[in-house]
Amino acid sequence: MDRSNLIKPMLDAQYPVIDYGRGVYLYDTDGKEYLDASSGAITANIGHGVEEIIEAMHEQAKKVSFVYRSQFTSGAAEKLALKIAEAASGDLNWSFFVNSGSEATETAMKIAIQYWQEKGILTKTKVLSRWMSYHGITLGALSMSGHTGRRARFIPLLEDFPVVHPPYCYRCPYNLEPTDCGYLCAHELETVIKRIGADNIAAFIAEPVIGAAGGAITPPKDYYRIIKEICDRNDILFIADEVMTGFGRTGTMLACEQWNVKPDIVALGKGMGAGYAPIAAALVSDEIMEPIFSGSKSIMSGHTLSANPQSCAVSLAVLEYIEKNNIIPEVDSKGVYLKNKLIKLQSKFTFIGDVRGKGLMLGLEFVKDHLTKQPFSSRFGLTQRLIQGAQEQGLLIYPAGAGTVGTDGDAVLIAPPLTITKREIDDLVKRFEKTLQILAQKHLI
Ligand code: PLP
Repeated sequence: MDRSNLIKPMLDAQYPVIDYGRGVYLYDTDGKEYLDASSGAITANIGHGVEEIIEAMHEQAKKVSFVYRSQFTSGAAEKLALKIAEAASGDLNWSFFVNSGSEATETAMKIAIQYWQEKGILTKTKVLSRWMSYHGITLGALSMSGHTGRRARFIPLLEDFPVVHPPYCYRCPYNLEPTDCGYLCAHELETVIKRIGADNIAAFIAEPVIGAAGGAITPPKDYYRIIKEICDRNDILFIADEVMTGFGRTGTMLACEQWNVKPDIVALGKGMGAGYAPIAAALVSDEIMEPIFSGSKSIMSGHTLSANPQSCAVSLAVLEYIEKNNIIPEVDSKGVYLKNKLIKLQSKFTFIGDVRGKGLMLGLEFVKDHLTKQPFSSRFGLTQRLIQGAQEQGLLIYPAGAGTVGTDGDAVLIAPPLTITKREIDDLVKRFEKTLQILAQKHLI
């Protein structure tokens, strides 16, 4: 293309033009094949070009694509809300549909604040979060995000919500070993609550497995149990940001189920529409909805395209596809298969410092020296070199480092569609190994 009027992420970069996608593979207009090992942005959870979803889009479009949510409800939105309530554990029975993950976390924040208001408590307005977190790009969502890079330009416009350390065991903030640490990073939450005053705090928000802000940072066994106990003891709601982990990514419908923790509100996005349509949701428990039902009877949020029938029909078809094809129960074994292969690469390439993650949400962190864990300087731009090098080998991986893993630090996410086969995982690892070999040979790593 000689001329473009499209504002792209990097204005001076040349982007390949994508032609079509099938399963875990994408093809550009030059015929180059890419194995989509990042599901785009951890979104295309059932792969590309799935006929059933295209069919469902077509069927809904033939009926009606848009109705305004203040005038009508639709069969698609009602069925989707019911399906999600049945699929989610516990009493997470109420869906508020929006269009992006940022809208979902921001809506979750507003519902948490409204919940306390309905109970007559007007001071509980702060939402605590963690360093190395990303909850979205809108100002409310950024206010809750500990992602220093994405916040920097907008600091004067953002709420300065307090943050605590994440359970980043590879570089423990307390310099302790995971088995012997007393979960100080979880208990830090209580210290901060005491400092700020529980009367001022509506909720604590966390990604069950930290995605783009850290590279699949996975907490040790009791972390969320302790976090939830602290939240309950202090009358603080727990919002699980499952925008990346939702709909099976870690091997359970919601990642929180892995630790048997019941959130009060869940933010969903990405995998909900699996890339076929923009749709996201704040999923709310009976207990949180109760005072709103008996109080103002309306949630003070919403968008023109909230509960859009077209998007809801897609999301419903995605959920049905996941169920029909028994996709979630297979995620764990596929994840273990892939992770073991990545761990094997660690012995060949000592600059792979850590391999971590759950299910098919895996992360690798890269270090200059694996004994001292010294990171590469951020000026070296390793994450970008890896992404680019992989793309040259026809492999798409997702950046999670370059200034987000601490101030220096490089990590990537490997999170292919959940439908990937073992043969395709072998192909993925082959392309990744070749990428690392070439970068090492050229002294680019
Ligand atoms: N929350 C998490 C955990 C995310 O990973 C993201 C996006 O990467 C968001 C929220 C924001 O979602 P969106 O980009 O759809 O606004």
